[in-house]
Amino acid sequence: MFRQMESAGLQDLHFWQDPDTGLQAIIAIHDTFRGPAIGGCRFITYPDTAAAITDAIRLAKGMSYKAALAGLPHGGGKAVIMKPSGLYDRNRLMRSFGHFVDSLNGRYITAMDSGTQISDMDNIAINTRFVTCTRDMGDPSPSTAQGVFAGIQASTMFRFGTTDLHNIHIALQGLGHVGYALAKLLHNAGARLTVADIDTQKVARATAEFNARAVEANEIYDVAADIFCPCGLGAIINPDTVNRLNCAIVAGSANNQLADDSQGENLWRRGILYAPDYLINAGGLIFVALQHARHHDQSIRQKVASIYDSLLELYKHAQADDRPTNDIADLRARTIIRQASMDAHQAA
Ligand code: NAD
Repeated sequence: MFRQMESAGLQDLHFWQDPDTGLQAIIAIHDTFRGPAIGGCRFITYPDTAAAITDAIRLAKGMSYKAALAGLPHGGGKAVIMKPSGLYDRNRLMRSFGHFVDSLNGRYITAMDSGTQISDMDNIAINTRFVTCTRDMGDPSPSTAQGVFAGIQASTMFRFGTTDLHNIHIALQGLGHVGYALAKLLHNAGARLTVADIDTQKVARATAEFNARAVEANEIYDVAADIFCPCGLGAIINPDTVNRLNCAIVAGSANNQLADDSQGENLWRRGILYAPDYLINAGGLIFVALQHARHHDQSIRQKVASIYDSLLELYKHAQADDRPTNDIADLRARTIIRQASMDAHQAA
């Protein structure tokens, strides 16, 4: 396990079990050099503990990179609660998890993620103040959508020399919390939408509300469009799909879009501009971090909108170095984190 932690650059890994509620949870803290670790809490079924640990470590590292590039005073962390197989009381389980978070004295701040909802955060908040996304704070998805919208405009500016989305054709995959809100922003900005989701009701709503064209879930990769906008699953740019893409830009909210780093190189070589996922989808993290720090709505919106400048600047860097955008993003994030770690060691 130490080898796994070392290769991810993880600082610490915490385990907690509470036989009374059935809670079995893990918190992975990637780093705290730039401030407390922050990141969501997953509540899903894992085949075994090793899979849960691997997920927590991988996701915590991703949160560190996201916080670093977003310029937030935070490191990355992630929690996973292993969904019990038998009967359990969800409210008690979450309250117990609140004790776990609190035991770390603010080194980790938790938030909503796959499988958790606002009512869970309310229960966690009974036992710790190191929690976001509670009822009075709200859902981060609209901010994620706002950030992706800004990132799409940065991408069209770089590629087409305009932020005007009128008649820009966008193939959007996944009409969930982020995808649907984003579709609305894009439609209002004059973009033409082709959409796909495995949930046919969401597709029907989008075709009616946004005058979108619908295609089968597996056909979205082949749509000839200006932009492919993945807002559903991870690992959707993989050896099976990368050569099917028929677009100039890939820019969407999904986490871990590249099945592996070499797919970024493939996109670059094909002349497809890729907006690194953890940069373009940082709006939700910005929202939860700044809400927790009690910033005003307007300052949060401004910070989310700054994704436009960050992304445009990163594209210019990638072009100057003729290197894939995901390489440049990783390099920058690693440099920021390394510098913070050196500063921390010097101060100690
Ligand atoms: P969500 O679960 O609300 O939506 C996902 C949507 O994708 C659902 O409508 C689902 O039916 C659809 N989907 C699933 N499989 C599909 C397939 N094969 N083809 C087409 N559609 C499919 O999730 P969300 O909160 O909207 O997040 C979307 C993505 O953005 C995820 O990858 C998430 O990790 C990432 N993300 C979300 C946030 C946020 O604030 N919610 C922040 C950062 C990143």
